[in-house]
Amino acid sequence: MSSITVPPPKCLQKTFVAPRRHMFGPGPSNVPPRILAAGAEPIIGHMHPEMLEIMSDIKSGIQYAFQTQNNMTIAVSGTGHTAMECAIFNAVEPGEGVLTAVNGIWGERAAEMAERIGARVNSIVTTAGGYFTSEEIDRALAKHKPVLFFLTHGESSTGVVHPLDGIGDICHKHNCLFLVDCVASMGGAPLHMDKQGIDILYSGSQKVLNAPPGTAPISFSERACQKVFNRKTKPVSFFLDMTWLANYWGCDGKPARIYHHTAPVSAFYSLRESLAILAEQGLENSWQRHKEVAEYFHEGLENMGLKLFVKDKNARLPTVTTIVSPPGYDWKEITSYIMKNHNLEISGGLGPSVGQVLRVGLMGGNSSKASVDMVLEALRDALRYCHKSKV
Ligand code: PMP
Repeated sequence: MSSITVPPPKCLQKTFVAPRRHMFGPGPSNVPPRILAAGAEPIIGHMHPEMLEIMSDIKSGIQYAFQTQNNMTIAVSGTGHTAMECAIFNAVEPGEGVLTAVNGIWGERAAEMAERIGARVNSIVTTAGGYFTSEEIDRALAKHKPVLFFLTHGESSTGVVHPLDGIGDICHKHNCLFLVDCVASMGGAPLHMDKQGIDILYSGSQKVLNAPPGTAPISFSERACQKVFNRKTKPVSFFLDMTWLANYWGCDGKPARIYHHTAPVSAFYSLRESLAILAEQGLENSWQRHKEVAEYFHEGLENMGLKLFVKDKNARLPTVTTIVSPPGYDWKEITSYIMKNHNLEISGGLGPSVGQVLRVGLMGGNSSKASVDMVLEALRDALRYCHKSKV
C-alpha cells in the first residue's frame, strides 16, 4: 500500500512549451536568445569564485547603467518590488518621516511599504499624466521634514518620465535622502545617479535590460550608506538587510563572505549578459534609440487619430507609451483581440490610469521601428474589428 494520498498531477505529464509572443506591454519584455542562452549555462555554487566574479561584473554593469561610482551597488534577488522594499526597509526606521510623490501607482506602493514598517508617511499627489515642479517638492519637504523622499523616474502606470535635475540638491538642503525608482526607465531615458544627487536608485531586470524577471539592480550613495549602516534598529527584513547583502556582494571590505541566501545563479548569468549587451551598445545610443522609436510610434498613433495620454511631449516616457483608450471601445476587447490575432501583448491601465489608457512598452531589443509598425498594424486591425458602442 502506498503512503501517498495525493496522486501525481496529470497536468504535469504534459510537456511544457512556452508560447512565443511579442511582449510589448509594460514588462516583461522579450528576452533575446543570447540572454536566454546565458541563463541556460550549468549551475555553479553561489559562493564559488567564478560566481563572485560574475557578481563583480554585474556590479560594474549596474554602475555603468546607473552612471554611479557607488561602491554599494548590487542586484537584489527578487523583482522590482523587492528592491523597493530593500531601499525603504534599510533607509527608514519606525517613526521616521517619508514623503512620496504620487503621480501613478508606484508612489502609492512606496507609501504603503513605508507605512508597513511604521514610518510617518506623507504624500504629494498630482493627476495621472502629470508630474511635480521643484518648487512643489521643496515646499513639501520643508513642511513634512522626511528622512526619505521617493520619486518615480519612469511612471509606467501613466507613461510619464519625471524630470530629475535639481531635486537631489533640494532633498539634501532639507537633510533628506533622494530615492528614485527607475525600473521602467533605466537604459531607456537619460539618468545620471551621481550627477543628479540620487541617494538610492533601483531598477528591474525585465524591462530595457531584456533579462528574465527576478533580479533588481540597486545602489546606495555614501550619504545613504551613512544612514543605512548607522541605524538604531535592525531592518524588519533579514533577507533584505543591506549589512548582510553588502557582505555577500563584497561591498563591505571584509575579507570573508558569509552565506546569506542562495542567489538565483541562472538569473545572475542572464543579468550579467543583459548588462554586457547594454555596455556594448552604449548607454547614450540606447537612450537615443528609445527616444527616436518612441517619437516614431507617437507620430504613427496620432496619424491614426489616436491620442496620447501625456500631453507634455517632453514628459513622455520613451519606454512605455500611454494611449488614451479609444472612445467608444472596450479596452479589454482591444487587448484581447490583439493577443489572439497578433500574438502580441499590450495592456490596459494600472492604478489611477485603469480604464483610461492602453499601455505599450517597447524596451531594449523591442525598441525598434519594426516593432512600432507591428503594434500600429495590430491597433488598426483591432479598431476595425472590435465593437464600437453606438453612444
Ligand atoms: N516600479 C516601476 C516603475 C515598474 O514599472 C514596476 C513594474 N511594472 C515596478 C516598480 C515593480 O517591479 P516588479 O513587477 O518587477 O516587482
